Amino acid sequence: MADIIDGRAVARKLDAETKAQVDAMVAAGLPRPGLAVILVGNDPASEVYVGRKIKKCAEVGITSVEHRMPADSSQAELLALIATLNEDPAIHGILCQVPLPTHIDTGLVLRAIAPSKDVDGFHPVNVGRLSTGTGGIIPCTPLGVMKLLDTVYDDLTGLDVVVIGKSNIVGKPIAMLMLEREATVTVTHIETKDLPDICRKADVIIAAAGAPRLVKGYWVKPGAVIIDVGITRMKTEDGKTKLVGDVAFEEVQHARAVTPVPGGVGPMTISCLLANTVQAAREQLEGTSSDGFSIDWDELPDRSMFTGETSEASA
Ligand code: NAD
Repeated sequence: MADIIDGRAVARKLDAETKAQVDAMVAAGLPRPGLAVILVGNDPASEVYVGRKIKKCAEVGITSVEHRMPADSSQAELLALIATLNEDPAIHGILCQVPLPTHIDTGLVLRAIAPSKDVDGFHPVNVGRLSTGTGGIIPCTPLGVMKLLDTVYDDLTGLDVVVIGKSNIVGKPIAMLMLEREATVTVTHIETKDLPDICRKADVIIAAAGAPRLVKGYWVKPGAVIIDVGITRMKTEDGKTKLVGDVAFEEVQHARAVTPVPGGVGPMTISCLLANTVQAAREQLEGTSSDGFSIDWDELPDRSMFTGETSEASA
């Protein structure tokens, strides 16, 4: 029987650590970390997610402020709210719940959030920092995946890892994090040929495709570790809704360890959001946040190496 990696237990432990950090900050006279959560419209799933995030903030002592905007709010109104929150010293993290209504450019909105307050880790500055191994805020689900793997392995060096799915918010950041830990990573996607063969060679499979029960028993070598990120809502015969992962769970009992769905990666995502908010607050207060991370062109002795221009100094 494969060990079950209990995401709920790992998330509880992380929440306790986050709460201890918040308590220590407040005891040291520092401001309590603050998270602004923006919800545009009334998508039922988004309402549930936002409600959960706000409840969890209270549990660890983070102040949360909810900003609800009607579905027909303009992009300009949303950008104006983000600009205000970017300047608000009591707010250390800004989360804009997606999906946004279709008349709003999601990429533009996410880029408008100050990198230092981008607790989702989606801003190009944070993406760049992750891919260059220079810190920044790490997207919550990939961070949660790494924390779950850390309960199984002390060291990922040299492991063969297959990531199924190459999205910007899950697959790609996971691949970057694995490379930082010296694993050998194969990133696969819907057009990948011979996916079962590729998976059969893996020490670790991270399934993040959103394809229910995609990973079959014969795809998994004995002793492999499987992290199932996928969540698909399916109707049962009695009309209820159940969550189904990307892994045929009962077929992979020859694995060393596997995450269940639900109760695996899911609980880690919110806990990592809380941890990211505290990290963001700490870095803003220390002056080490991503906002100070951009290149100051005027300070560079010779900008021609970056721009290709011939400067007077190098001519
Ligand atoms: P996405 O749709 O943006 O990307 C899916 C990726 O999987 C794509 O790269 C696609 O090419 C690949 N893919 C799809 N079907 C495939 C198949 N049959 N074979 C191989 N590759 C395939 O999705 P996403 O946002 O990255 O999310 C992926 C899954 O993870 C979804 O089920 C989502 O609900 C879940 N998710 C869970 C959490 C969590 O907290 N547990 C967080 C984020 C996403």
